[in-house]
Amino acid sequence: MRQDKSEVIIIGAGPSGAVAAGLLRRAGHAVTLIEKETFPRFCIGESLLPQSMEYIEAAGMLQDVVEAGFQFKNGAAFACDKKHAQFDFRKKFSPGWGTTYQVQRGPFDKVLADAAARMGAEIRYQHEVTAVDLAGDKPVVTVRSASGEAYTLTGEFLFDASGYGRVLPRLLDLETPSELPVRQAIFTHIEDRVAPDAGFDREKILISVHPEKRDIWYWLIPFSNGRSSIGVVGRREQFDAREDAEQLRAWVMEAPNLAQLLQHAKWDTPAQHIIGYSANVKTLYGRHFALLGNATEFLDPVFSSGVTIAFKSAYLAVKTLSRQLAGEMVDWEQEYAQLLMTGVNAFRAFVNAWYDCRLQDIIFHADKQPEIERMISAVLAGYAWDEKNPFVAKAERRLASLNAACALD
Ligand SMILES: Cc1cc2nc3c(=O)[nH]c(=O)nc-3n(C[C@H](O)[C@H](O)[C@H](O)COP(=O)(O)OP(=O)(O)OC[C@H]3O[C@@H](n4cnc5c(N)ncnc54)[C@H](O)[C@@H]3O)c2cc1C
Repeated sequence: MRQDKSEVIIIGAGPSGAVAAGLLRRAGHAVTLIEKETFPRFCIGESLLPQSMEYIEAAGMLQDVVEAGFQFKNGAAFACDKKHAQFDFRKKFSPGWGTTYQVQRGPFDKVLADAAARMGAEIRYQHEVTAVDLAGDKPVVTVRSASGEAYTLTGEFLFDASGYGRVLPRLLDLETPSELPVRQAIFTHIEDRVAPDAGFDREKILISVHPEKRDIWYWLIPFSNGRSSIGVVGRREQFDAREDAEQLRAWVMEAPNLAQLLQHAKWDTPAQHIIGYSANVKTLYGRHFALLGNATEFLDPVFSSGVTIAFKSAYLAVKTLSRQLAGEMVDWEQEYAQLLMTGVNAFRAFVNAWYDCRLQDIIFHADKQPEIERMISAVLAGYAWDEKNPFVAKAERRLASLNAACALD
């Protein structure tokens, strides 16, 4: 069998893999990405958070993203029946970017991957990792090429950025069940045909809540070309056996604000669903490897945190690995796992408070204190690692006490 060599091997050229590759190239390391698809390919996860811009910039890909012409985004709007709220991410507690983009992931992921390739990363499209051997001194992956040829690739270190593929969690038996209930999302792209005077701010994601079933929510993510991504999320048992497209439209019509906004929409694309996307792992790293992005723990899409967490994981892992490759002693638990989990745990508190409605009550509360609004805005903008923000450092406690205060008003 053919035996190839690289320095750092990355499984997957999605956001976490491409940004890790860019950061590694900037640090002078050789990188080979193994990507089973050709790009552009569809992927869900289209609304970015401003915090993600910091990592795009650090990876040397900012100009590529800015010049691609994606839909500008400056905040998030929420609606439930007649209640409305919105957060402007530029008015936030934490320093840093206050704006970002809403992107079709096909072109967006290609922009990042092309930038990584331009910086010298080798990307082998239509090559799939089928096995790993981590028993020796160096990690070895077995790859099946587009022509069906199997070969091995040996490196100094392996990043698993395979996202929903979850290659190492599956092959190394690292999967653990998520504590979150099994939820389902049904989604599609539409030509939204929302009238300019309909009160729809295309520079914000719109999160709508079902008027009666408050754990069912919808996203409407406008793109720059008059199209939008629309999706509904609920517990698996809240959906039935109807076709995805029929069910999605029926749920959308039950949300009065969406029924109104999308009255002229052209539903021209097949709908898809994804069930049980929340996932967890026993460890984020091992002797020769680290897991990035969705190959780690994935919580929930409600706050659009997935790509930001993917970038953050790439940033922290590359920083740790660069020091290791330079011969320094590193502590993956402290420098990678614990740091990454600070933000994941802040998002976890927000996700739990969303589904038990405490956060919905806070968001739709008419009389928000400006400083507290700025702190919540910062977390919603992705600054979930800023421990100066009490809603990060003590997320659960602060959300509970704020909810109690809202209930008294
Ligand atoms: C319903 C839903 C809505 C979401 N909405 C948002 C949102 O609005 N904003 C947001 O930020 N996030 C969102 N997310 C999360 C987002 O989709 C992910 O967090 C993000 O795609 C993770 O990026 P990644 O690079 O880790 O993995 P991916 O984007 O999944 O990329 C992994 C790559 O690895 C490749 N791969 C897989 N297996 C192999 C293999 N064996 N060999 C070689 N290559 C392989 C795949 O082809 C793929 O290209 C949403 C998720 C869901 C479920």
